[in-house]
Amino acid sequence: MASPPTNLHFVLFPWPAQGHLIPMVDVARMLAERDVMVTVITTPVNTNRIKTVIDRAIEAKLKIQVLDIQLPFAKAGLPEGCESFDMIPSVSYVANMFLAMKLLEEPAEEMLRVLYPPPSCIISDGGFHWTSDVAKRLSIPRIIFYGPGCFASLCINIVNNTNILDDFKSDSDYFALPGLPDCIEVTKPQALSWGKGNTKETKETFERTQEAEKAAFGIVVNSFDALEPKYVEEFAKATGKKVWCIGPVSLFNKSLEDIAERGNKAANGEHDCLKWLDSREPRSVVYVCFGSFSSTLTDQAIELALGLESSNIPFVWFVRRTSDEFEKWASEGQYEERIKGRGLMIRGWAPQILVLSHQAIGGFITHCGWNSTLEAICAGIPMVTWPHFADQFLNERFIVNVLKIGLIIGAEVPITYRGKEKFEVMVKREAIKLAVEGLMNDEDEAQTRRNRAKEVAQMAKKAMEDEGSSHLNLTKMIVAITEELALKNKSIKDIV
Ligand code: UDP
Repeated sequence: MASPPTNLHFVLFPWPAQGHLIPMVDVARMLAERDVMVTVITTPVNTNRIKTVIDRAIEAKLKIQVLDIQLPFAKAGLPEGCESFDMIPSVSYVANMFLAMKLLEEPAEEMLRVLYPPPSCIISDGGFHWTSDVAKRLSIPRIIFYGPGCFASLCINIVNNTNILDDFKSDSDYFALPGLPDCIEVTKPQALSWGKGNTKETKETFERTQEAEKAAFGIVVNSFDALEPKYVEEFAKATGKKVWCIGPVSLFNKSLEDIAERGNKAANGEHDCLKWLDSREPRSVVYVCFGSFSSTLTDQAIELALGLESSNIPFVWFVRRTSDEFEKWASEGQYEERIKGRGLMIRGWAPQILVLSHQAIGGFITHCGWNSTLEAICAGIPMVTWPHFADQFLNERFIVNVLKIGLIIGAEVPITYRGKEKFEVMVKREAIKLAVEGLMNDEDEAQTRRNRAKEVAQMAKKAMEDEGSSHLNLTKMIVAITEELALKNKSIKDIV
């Protein structure tokens, strides 16, 4: 099904966090490739992060632009320049960040009102609930982008629309989420980390997000139909919305530059890492990375370092940020000398897709962020699952219980992101060693997991090919918007 010729103009509002910005930029270019004009509205720091990718798209003659919107730092009580969730100095600024996002409503609407050609559709992150009101005032449809796949979104929908949590007192007991195609068990604290919120502000945000979902034209999801067919269907039923799975959107990137430059600039050790990987046996190395804003606190980072060292498996570990205490521990104990030749620890941003698709990589220790999960799926790599917070525990269930391509490390309690409070080591070195060896050995269980991961990777590639399900779903989404606008124009003409 080819895309119809369009004179559509989509405006995209990505949530200011790498795990939302990166896939939204993929969606923007996928739309532009279908002859849709696309405007991405984001803050200057984020504009800068996506500049080279967007510039290349413009050079390739795609109709795409990025417009800056300024954050009202002072009004929101944020430090100047703090424009993304990975930049907030401490957990106490999360509420300020949410406030800043809310304060964008007025300036964003002013921008939309003078855009030319006028916008025909808004695709905005679930967090930008106010885009629903703006879309209504501009008489254009709004499509939601939440971030996770349909499995996690359906679980969240169930918790948000029932009082199931009220029935449970214990924080450690597991209970099954009702109404799901598979038996999926979670604890109350895990469910609370993606639930309704407990302060006046979080409750208000939750209610507005729910209302905005009811008013939405549809939901676009970074997933593909064959990955979670029952959950796509059930999620559409639960929300009563059209749901278009158009991913994995990372597979849209074909050139080496687009694959390598996602999000921040890669760490200095990038080339050494790739050279080192070139020298390793196929599928022999474990890649470790916990996404764009999880922090591993000192004691846990030391435990991880020791766990990796004690397994006999080669590894490459990209650490987003280390503490002075960790550095002191590593240098006094000569950690990096000890692991030389068998392990690499690189401080900074990983060129994740490049690493995951290297033939030497055979496993991934992941925090189960949805993008990382999908990127591992695309590379056909089985995972050791180590969720930290938010939807990550659900993604773990999906990887392990539904897809059966992962091995649990045993993290059960959500950690408060960027928390400075007393922190106990949640995953011990023995568990790390066991999980890594269990993932990488040649036993039947590991082999089955590996084969299954390869099968799912093939399914992902197929979905993104021309005439694949995701390709078709994107066409359907564009057609649905075209029809909606035609209907609206017709009713205006009828009235006149
Ligand atoms: N990422 C990366 N290098 C890093 C850390 C993260 O390229 O060192 C990318 C990763 O490939 C993914 C995104 O950042 O596309 C992180 O999104 P995810 O949903 O996995 O986790 P989050 O950061 O939102 O917790």
